[in-house]
Amino acid sequence: MPATETHTGLVRRARKVDRILAETYPDARCELDFENPFELLVVTVLSAQTTDRRVNAVRPTLFAAYPGPEAMAAAPREHLEQIIGPLGFFRAKTESLLKLSAALVERYDGHVPGRLDDLVTLPGVGRKTANVVLGNAFGVPGITVDTHFGRLVRRLGWTEETDPVKAEHAVGELFAKRDWTMLSHHLIWHGRRRCHAKKPACGACPLARLCPSYGEGPTDPVAAAALVKTQGPA
Ligand code: SF4
Repeated sequence: MPATETHTGLVRRARKVDRILAETYPDARCELDFENPFELLVVTVLSAQTTDRRVNAVRPTLFAAYPGPEAMAAAPREHLEQIIGPLGFFRAKTESLLKLSAALVERYDGHVPGRLDDLVTLPGVGRKTANVVLGNAFGVPGITVDTHFGRLVRRLGWTEETDPVKAEHAVGELFAKRDWTMLSHHLIWHGRRRCHAKKPACGACPLARLCPSYGEGPTDPVAAAALVKTQGPA
C-alpha cells in the first residue's frame, strides 16, 4: 500500500481485506450459542473476562432453569451463583443477571428491546453488548469493538483510535452499513485464529500484502503456521 494512502484507497483496501476474510472464514459468526434475544443478551454479559467456550458450556443448565427474564429475575441468588461459578466473577455476574432480568420485566414487559438507545439503559449492558445483540438477534447492522476488533483495525491501519466508540465510527464509515455485523465477525475470527495479540501469524496470513503491520509476528511460513488456531471459540 502507498505511504500516503488516500481515503478512497483506504476504503478500497479495507473492503478488500473484508472480502479476503470472508473467503478465509466462511463460517464466521457469533461464537456464543443462543436461541433468542434474551439468551444472547445474557450470554454476552456473561462472556466478559472469560471464554465463549466456557459460557457455551453453562448455557444449557442456565436456561433450562431460568428460560426467560421473569424466571431469572426471581431466581435464588445462590443457585445462579452456583451455575455460573465456572465463569469467574460469579457474584458480580449474578448481580448483573438479576438486575438485568428485573429491568426487562419492569420496563420492557419481559422482552429485549431492539434499539441501541434502549439496550444501553439496561444494567450491565454497554454499547459492545448492545451491538452484539442487535446484529445477531435482531438483524440490525452493528459493529462490535472488542479487544480483537480494536487491535486489528489499528494493525491494519484503518484507524488509530483507541476509544471503542470512536473506532466504531471510524471503521463504520469505511463500509456499507449492511456489512457491519459480518465485518465484526470476520475481524474477531481473524484475531482469534491468526492475528493474535502476541505473536500474530504474519507468515500464514492472507492479508499480508494489505497489512502495514506485516512482520509484527513471525514471517517464516512454518513458524507462522504453528501459531494458527484452527478453531474457536478462544
Ligand atoms: S499480516 Fe500479521 S499483523 Fe497483519 S493482519 Fe496478518 S497476522 Fe495480523
